[in-house]
Amino acid sequence: MLKPDALENGYMGKIIDMIIEAGFEIKAMKYTRLSTEQAKKFYEVHAERPFYGDLVEYMTSGPIVAAILEKENAVADFRALIGATDPAEAAEGTIRKAYAESKGRNAVHGSDSDENAEIEGKFHFSGNEIY
Ligand code: ADP
Ligand code: MG
Repeated sequence: MLKPDALENGYMGKIIDMIIEAGFEIKAMKYTRLSTEQAKKFYEVHAERPFYGDLVEYMTSGPIVAAILEKENAVADFRALIGATDPAEAAEGTIRKAYAESKGRNAVHGSDSDENAEIEGKFHFSGNEIY
């Protein structure tokens, strides 16, 4: 996902370009806005964390871009491309280093396992939206 801060700050094109340049193939893509219910569900693993309320509020504050990306070793390679959760700790050349505002408003989401990528892909897209 491209998160609300990334779109608010005008980085949609630049980030999508970095993703394509890094060799990811776009299998599905959608410009949309999460409802509070959807954001709560998407981040439910973090429900007990102190930042959960702020995270849900932020993720519903504006539109997002959801995408399914395909590549050999996609999960690990995408995590490497986006960089550390906190842009202050993100490596040079990563999306978060270039475009994230803060640890909370950090421009992009990447799935953390193949299993979660499957779940998150199905969260955003139905079969006829995936190519
Ligand atoms: P990542 O997105 O790098 O996988 P996590 O899964 O740990 O990071 O956290 C999910 C999201 O919750 C982060 O991307 C960020 O938007 C938010 N978040 C995580 N930790 C914090 C924190 N300490 N303070 C505020 N927001 C946070
Ligand atoms: Mg995560």
